[in-house]
Amino acid sequence: MTFEPNSSDAARLRRHFEERRGRVLSLTRALCEIESPSGDGEGSAAAVSILADAAKSVEGAASVERINAPDGYGEHFILRAFDNPSNGERPLLLLGHTDTVHPRGTLAARPWRETEGRIYAPGVYDMKAACCVALEAVRACVELSLKPRRPVVLLLTCDEESGSYSGRELVEREAGRAEYVLVLEPPASGGRAKTARKGTGLFTLEVEGRAAHAGLEPEKGVNAVLEIARQIERASALAKPELGTTVNVGTVSGGTHANVVPAGARAEIDVRFSTNAEARRVEEAIRGLQSFDERARLKVSGGINRPPMERTDAVAALFEKARRVAASLDVELGEASVGGASDGNFAAACCAAVLDGLGVDGDGAHAEHEHIRADAVARRGAFLAALVASL
Ligand SMILES: [Zn+2]
Repeated sequence: MTFEPNSSDAARLRRHFEERRGRVLSLTRALCEIESPSGDGEGSAAAVSILADAAKSVEGAASVERINAPDGYGEHFILRAFDNPSNGERPLLLLGHTDTVHPRGTLAARPWRETEGRIYAPGVYDMKAACCVALEAVRACVELSLKPRRPVVLLLTCDEESGSYSGRELVEREAGRAEYVLVLEPPASGGRAKTARKGTGLFTLEVEGRAAHAGLEPEKGVNAVLEIARQIERASALAKPELGTTVNVGTVSGGTHANVVPAGARAEIDVRFSTNAEARRVEEAIRGLQSFDERARLKVSGGINRPPMERTDAVAALFEKARRVAASLDVELGEASVGGASDGNFAAACCAAVLDGLGVDGDGAHAEHEHIRADAVARRGAFLAALVASL
């Protein structure tokens, strides 16, 4: 029997989070006041220490594991709770990250500030408040005896914002074992969950031409800038907005002086797609680009970074469950599909049922006005705990 919160459970959850609200916010504040930009090993370890300390008072937390990313990049955090291998249920994975995009010094310029129902701090919305709320959701399940039927794993990586170079392996391992993945990224406006995310690819196209004097013997040159200009037209034409595929040539460089036929040129191409089929089509086309001038040589590097998170039937069914659980707490849960990618994309390639955007409502991810809504903390916490208990 799966748990569905009745009105008394809902009231207990709401009360629990109203009572704990102050402590959740002070934990969030402590976490935000440690600066942990991706790659800052010291900041990452300090952030993980705060969460590991807080986890000690969660009785149902069987273990906390800290995993060093290579080259002092930071620490990944894994908490396992309700571990009961005997019942054979596949785990539920709560997935987030402790790194931020904000360099050290941002906190001094924009310290923690509460005003008009909003809380501003670097990384609060993406996604330190969500890390704390997720931990509290596990605590609430223990303290209110809403024991989830499956093991719960909370994985917080330290390199999501910079491409998940070492976190990806952990995300794929844990998502591959899980029945459901709940991603703690910021929600879309109005607290909406994210049921689809585009995938991303980044390619670099380099052209090798041949230099020559532009006045004396231009015919001996091979103009790499002209070649790349033609290739940019060709790459851009791969976009199919009606299918969700976009191609953006974001940077281009080449040449040395106006009077020299340029020998080299380079462009960076950002690609977004909604389906794996489109990802394959665009990747094959870019790798297969042929030069217009047969004397020019093309080199393509890079590739698909994150696969798309598609709104499969399993995703739709998980969203429907989440919507019902939210409704039992008088919260209307909407859904959105977005262009940005997250670790939810990697998870989706390994686990059928992924729901993203379950962080705390607010606005301004990666921006100066980054904030959460103060009243969303308790509401999201109660919802997340109920969802964990009912899956
Ligand atoms: Zn994030």
